[in-house]
Amino acid sequence: MKTSNLGYPRIGAHRELKRACEKYWSGRITLEDLLHAGKSIREENWKLQQQKGIDLIPSNDFSFYDQVLDTSLMVGAIPERYKNAQDTKSTLLDLYFAMARGVQKDGVDVIAMEMTKWFDTNYHYIVPEFTKDQEFELLSSKIVDEFNEAKAMGIHTKPVILGPVTYLLLGKEKEEGFHRLDLLPKLLPIYCSILKRLLDSGATWIQFDEPILSTDLSDKEQEAIKKVYQEIATAFPTLKMLLANYFGDFGDNLDTALSLPVCALHLDLKRSPNQLDTVLELGKLNKKISLSLGVVDGRNVWKNDFKTSLEFVQKAKTQLGEERVILSPSCSLLHVPYDLELEKNEQVLHEDVKDWMAFAKQKLEELQSLKLLASVPNYESHQHFIANLASMEKRKNSTLIHKPKVKKRVEQLHEKDFYRKSPFKKRKVLQEAHLNLPLFPTTTIGSFPQTQEVRRARSLFKKGELSEQAYVDFLIKETTDAIAFQEEVGLDVPVHGEFERNDMVEYFGEQLDGFVFSQNGWVQSYGSRCVKPPIIFGDVSRPSPMTVFWTSFAQSLTEKPVKGMLTGPVTILQWSFVRDDQPRSSTCNQIALAIRDEVVDLEKEGIQIIQVDEPAIREGLPLRKKNWETYLDWAIGAFKLSTSGVKDSTQIHTHMCYSEFNDIIKNIADMDADVITIECSRSQMELLDAFSEFDYPNDIGPGVYDIHSPRVPSLNEILKLLRKAENVLPASKLWVNPDCGLKTRGWEETKSALKLMVSAAQQMRKVE
Ligand code: GLN
Ligand code: ZN
Repeated sequence: MKTSNLGYPRIGAHRELKRACEKYWSGRITLEDLLHAGKSIREENWKLQQQKGIDLIPSNDFSFYDQVLDTSLMVGAIPERYKNAQDTKSTLLDLYFAMARGVQKDGVDVIAMEMTKWFDTNYHYIVPEFTKDQEFELLSSKIVDEFNEAKAMGIHTKPVILGPVTYLLLGKEKEEGFHRLDLLPKLLPIYCSILKRLLDSGATWIQFDEPILSTDLSDKEQEAIKKVYQEIATAFPTLKMLLANYFGDFGDNLDTALSLPVCALHLDLKRSPNQLDTVLELGKLNKKISLSLGVVDGRNVWKNDFKTSLEFVQKAKTQLGEERVILSPSCSLLHVPYDLELEKNEQVLHEDVKDWMAFAKQKLEELQSLKLLASVPNYESHQHFIANLASMEKRKNSTLIHKPKVKKRVEQLHEKDFYRKSPFKKRKVLQEAHLNLPLFPTTTIGSFPQTQEVRRARSLFKKGELSEQAYVDFLIKETTDAIAFQEEVGLDVPVHGEFERNDMVEYFGEQLDGFVFSQNGWVQSYGSRCVKPPIIFGDVSRPSPMTVFWTSFAQSLTEKPVKGMLTGPVTILQWSFVRDDQPRSSTCNQIALAIRDEVVDLEKEGIQIIQVDEPAIREGLPLRKKNWETYLDWAIGAFKLSTSGVKDSTQIHTHMCYSEFNDIIKNIADMDADVITIECSRSQMELLDAFSEFDYPNDIGPGVYDIHSPRVPSLNEILKLLRKAENVLPASKLWVNPDCGLKTRGWEETKSALKLMVSAAQQMRKVE
């Protein structure tokens, strides 16, 4: 039996790659320094995996930015605009970074390529662009170079390559008149030449990542998969192909997968534990094919349950024989932090909770232990097994995790807890009487500039270098200034400004029971950007109010209705590592109840408008459409649960960032927020079409200017967008607000732009 790893985190245990890249981009280190930093990380990763006894160690899982962009570079899919932006001194890596980040220098101004989420993870990849006459060429030999680099260290690796079908399908056609899969006959020869070079260098196993197999594929797409792997197998009869699908099961693509002439198929048994039975019972698995069992969770931070994993292993072993079983993580370990041993502060991470966790390095050790246990006759009495079992038992019964009161409250939820008292029409009349707002009411999405001073004060306070009193005084001043400014420009619904918040999820997680935070648990989000997600380990509850102080304080400064600002349960869930010992929906309802209590407390303190942000609802959608409904049911339900505890006259807002609304518009309407604000300006209001076609019943605030650059829009641009909005939706439903993200802007442009926005609203009122 072999162990195999699908990929290892590449940012460095202490984010060395982030630092090196950022220094290189700002000209503070040389190309050589950067290359050296990359090499050290790869060497360290390979050595570690060797030390942990991994048989099939991946290479080419390293990347200076993104593995999809690496593939574009490998096959020479370079959009024209970047070729033109290079000068004679530019290297291939400069071209690569230009595609990733855009170029603004010496009169050249090219924007970066589009970026989007990698399947259902919080990792973002650079979207490949294809033209009708797209040509490919073998441009980068990174995959061969890295194989040779490891070989020189005496480590025989398994190169990882993004499969051609997933690669093409993740891309976009930049012209009409063709489908990107039609490019396969041109792309495949490039793949073949790189494979040939790998084999010439001595490679034996090669891992082909085709996670697109976890999504719904058409017949044509399945045919493409068959064609690709048949052709490769014919061209390279000695090559050992490991076909890796992860983030879901093969589903309707299973027959296709089972027909492929590969040496091993990888199953993500974390996401779909039933898949092993399905594959074994079907009896269609070719006798030459091994199964790579993805038993160790590559998407989450929990310790592996050896008992369950070994049951899988034994089953596969009995039916296939030991030599046809490979032990693996469920997917690349890219999505988990480096090393739990770096978490040394018990005050931050409770010792018991730490014992239930495993980061990337610990997951390698788990694979090693599982391999050992699977080979001893009586593993139940082996110390590794006993220790693991003890840890699992402790977790099952821990009073740190399990709060009967919280569980009971969720169990006792009633249908009516999910609905406002009256329908929107009636609420709207009451709210109008209560709030007395003008037509086209103006507001913002919540945050105001997080200036250097704001971030500095918070960091000093956290380090204990600024007293709590001094920090609070500072925040009082910032909030007071923000309210004064909003009064001055005449915004109808001011906000307190969110100066006290580091991050919209972390701020709440830090105040809720059931969350812990790591100190070094960074994972790559995109390029050099890393995030440190909160970890939900136990039943979630709210020991005390979280935002009431700052919101009430802001309200005390103005006669206008201040909008309270909260993050919704689905977004908190989606941007955290979530416990795996109960369904996500249960955890989400626990968070929803905590937010509900906060909403009710805000109302009690006289706050009449409360916004519950849910930017992550759409990104939580399952990869296969057939699972959408179940998800949307509980996700939308959790939002409603969090917001329906208030009186009819209290106005609930929600906010969503730029996203595709068409196919979920009915569910958005079911959320029944009195007002939804959406990021819209970049689409020139086109996003509103979905709302107008559906006859969206409640009120809407489309963003009327883009905040992604310091550029201040003209009055006319704002008016143009507002008129466009008014063309598709009745004026009585429209709010006026910018897009989200004012926290990333400076005050100067914020002030100028908001003044113009208020004037635009005033002009619109005159016409009505
Ligand atoms: N209230 C948050 C803010 O204004 C919303 C952030 C978001 O849209 N993701 O920053
Ligand atoms: Zn947003």
